[in-house]
Amino acid sequence: MKYSPVQNYINGKFVDASSARTLQVISPIDGNLLSTVPMSTSKDMDDAVKAAKAAFPAWSKMPIKERVQVFFRYKILLEKNLKELAELCSEENGKTYSESVAEIEKCIELTEFATSLPQLVTGEILEVSKGVECRTEHVPLGVVASIVPFNFPAMVPNWTIPNAIALGNCMILKPSEKVPLCSGRLAQLLKEAGLPDGVFNIVNGDSEIVTAICDHPGIEAVSFVGSTKVAKIVYQRATSQFKRALALGGAKNHLMVLPDAKPDMTAQNVAASMSGCAGQRCMAASAMVAVGEVDHIINKICDEAKKIIPGENLGAVISKESKERIEGYITEAEKQGAKILVDGRNAKVKGKENGTYVGPTVIDYVKPDMAVAKEEIFGPVISIMRTNTVDEALAIENANPYGNAASVFTQNGGMARYIIDKASAGMIGVNVGVPVPREPFSFGGWNESKFGVGDITGKSSIEFWTKLKKSTTKWNPEAGVNWMS
Ligand code: NAD
Repeated sequence: MKYSPVQNYINGKFVDASSARTLQVISPIDGNLLSTVPMSTSKDMDDAVKAAKAAFPAWSKMPIKERVQVFFRYKILLEKNLKELAELCSEENGKTYSESVAEIEKCIELTEFATSLPQLVTGEILEVSKGVECRTEHVPLGVVASIVPFNFPAMVPNWTIPNAIALGNCMILKPSEKVPLCSGRLAQLLKEAGLPDGVFNIVNGDSEIVTAICDHPGIEAVSFVGSTKVAKIVYQRATSQFKRALALGGAKNHLMVLPDAKPDMTAQNVAASMSGCAGQRCMAASAMVAVGEVDHIINKICDEAKKIIPGENLGAVISKESKERIEGYITEAEKQGAKILVDGRNAKVKGKENGTYVGPTVIDYVKPDMAVAKEEIFGPVISIMRTNTVDEALAIENANPYGNAASVFTQNGGMARYIIDKASAGMIGVNVGVPVPREPFSFGGWNESKFGVGDITGKSSIEFWTKLKKSTTKWNPEAGVNWMS
């Protein structure tokens, strides 16, 4: 085992969980055992909540301009440790080193945003009638929790850590049991940056800990990122305990390719979107709607896909089960009459025979009722459906229950605007394959890709991680003058 067993992080210290039950942390790259992760119990959760509660009064009372100093230092530490963090991220998740570098760079951008929060959370003040002022303040919630998925071991935790904590909350993070290593390293960097003990805590585990988070009376708000199935469970359970909740779920993102699209640029973007991070991105292109005569672009997409080589510029998928599931989707589509233009099944990487690789896969002539058209595959696979008109393409996009992202490739501005208006997704791209809004713009989908109000990052996160206090004051010595004063 390459690393020592993962521990929880409570009150500034790494501690053992109260249960001896553990799971293995396996590298998808070569199948090697990296570590073990404890399956904590509600007692461990209770300890973390106690530590966070004890830290909250001092942390929340500190002026925000002082609190963000920690994140200026954290940002520098992320930069200093970028290489090591990126290596760890690749080892536990399976993505390529350059994808992990981009992930840590995104963590840096997220932290930069948090350092700008003092400029964004100024309240409002107005003399509403003679001598009477109304004022608003953003007040932290208390102890909050963040539950994260496997696909971005560093970035998704950093969607919530810097903003929620800079805004004055104390946090408990529940990492994915498949990739718990980066989170522990982030805890060390936060401590090194000067974050007081107890403000940030980690409790590892599986669904038992997620349930303990939803049910714990000491936790005020829960953010969740993961599959739609679990997002629904978490949203319902947390809100039924009267907690604030925001739960981001899965996705099935549609790219609409029009005949006037620039062929080379479109092909490169489509191939990169479907295969980046081995297709394990909630913003990945998973379905393409070919509108009219675009065979010349589809041929180029296949050429681009063939340049994507497992173990070189394509990482591994997270597990053996995942590889089998993805390959099962491809086989089922083939049986139902779809045409496999590029086939990524049975990919092998020399010297990494136990790695879980799936090659890039392009499936054409997919029908909208096939599973590959409707379900999130979460692998480097694109399913191409053909339509004659943009409205038919939009009808397919609109009918899918998710709503994270959609993109259009065209040179026609009016058509692009029409699709922005009609697509039922929270994030839309025009000639962009992965339309992730960059800070300060917020990230969040629609429909079954997100439950709750507001987005998880950017300015929108301020509303989620704080509550508004409204005060009305009168320091006017005169007696009441009118009905409002
Ligand atoms: P997942 O839903 O299986 O797991 C997410 C978290 O929930 C993990 O911490 C896990 O331990 C916990 N969990 C798993 N099963 C549970 C259960 N039955 N009850 C309670 N908790 C449970 O997701 P994943 O496989 O880790 O991640 C992939 C999914 O995340 C994909 O669907 C992807 O689209 C989605 N995702 C969405 C976004 C977004 O912004 N919308 C971003 C990243 C990933």
